[in-house]
Amino acid sequence: MEPYFSDQLPALKLSADEFFALGHRTGTPPSSEFEMTSLAIRFSDRINGVSKLHGKVSRRQWNCMWPEAAENEVPIGHVTNGIHMASWIGPEMRHLLERQVSADWLKNIEDRAMWERVSQISDHDLWEVRNEQRRRLIVSARRHAEMQLRRRNVDRSTLNDMSMRLQPDALTIGFARRFATYKRATLIFKHKERLAKLFENTDRPLQIIFAGKAHPADDGGKRFLQDVIRLSREEPFRGRVVLLEDYDIALARLLVAGCDVWLNTPRPPKEASGTSGMKACPNGALTLSTLDGWWVEGASPHNGWTIGDGRWEDRSAEELDNLEADHLINILEEQLVPLFHDRDSRGYPVKWLRRSRESIKTVTPYFNTSRMVREYAEKYYTK
Ligand SMILES: *Cc1c(COP(=O)(O)O)cnc(C)c1O
Repeated sequence: MEPYFSDQLPALKLSADEFFALGHRTGTPPSSEFEMTSLAIRFSDRINGVSKLHGKVSRRQWNCMWPEAAENEVPIGHVTNGIHMASWIGPEMRHLLERQVSADWLKNIEDRAMWERVSQISDHDLWEVRNEQRRRLIVSARRHAEMQLRRRNVDRSTLNDMSMRLQPDALTIGFARRFATYKRATLIFKHKERLAKLFENTDRPLQIIFAGKAHPADDGGKRFLQDVIRLSREEPFRGRVVLLEDYDIALARLLVAGCDVWLNTPRPPKEASGTSGMKACPNGALTLSTLDGWWVEGASPHNGWTIGDGRWEDRSAEELDNLEADHLINILEEQLVPLFHDRDSRGYPVKWLRRSRESIKTVTPYFNTSRMVREYAEKYYTK
């Protein structure tokens, strides 16, 4: 800060001490690090978190800036994040919703009564859309996987073997986001033998597609990437646990549209909001998430599965990791995998599709940018 800002001080009419104090929490010694959040809080008229939980955590974390205030009086509110639906809805689902919900569903997205019509969508129509969007993902993922294997110069048999194992009809779990360590990309592998058992059951095909990058300075995040790569070469995961390189928005769009399950495993309460799950649900995916960020508000009894109970105040990181890894594999074994493969006489996973409708219906009308921008206007900008 010193080299970049010292020549600005005369114009700001501030001494060096006064300037650097702006980047310190009230009551902390000036030798501590300059924090952008302290600076931002001092210069903001309004302050908010990006989910209900993030508001609460922020009031506790920044109570020091208002030493006189009780925690619940700290002037930090929240506006929960939302996503821009038109950017993330798959083409088949978009058309289905236009036919069965409303031609103007994007314009009237907050109309909950309108979303009741999702219940009328037939098993056949919904399953067809899900299959088509998954198929498109798998065709691209195979091509993507093949190209990255070619760049490694693997021999032809390995190439054919590994890039052809992804199946268009298998239960497809997606995890795509930054590889920040608190997001725990490898939590699902903590009970590796039990997960291997699920992969070995050929009656219930299962695959997991990962994508994401670690920050260049984040060695922990890079280790998670290495762990996923290593597992993707080991039986029985080989070719059916895949890490797609060069993660970008185009790949994210394919993944949220095509995956059956969106895996979200941040360690509570580290996730401010998280938004990738909001992109998967309107496409009919089911959420499998810890109770953190947006999912605290998004979870309902039948729109997905919640890992753990979100109680973090009296638990260490290690305790949370153990508890949540146990619960995660239990859910997969006892509920999630069997439900996807439970088909009726016509071949439809009727109970799964019921949850899929619930996911579309409960998430889409609220976790969108129309509602978000309106709330910013009402709660902050025009107040
Ligand atoms: C939405 C999005 C994210 C955010 O994912 P989280 O689950 O909220 O971490 C990250 N990367 C891309 C490309 C996205 O589109």
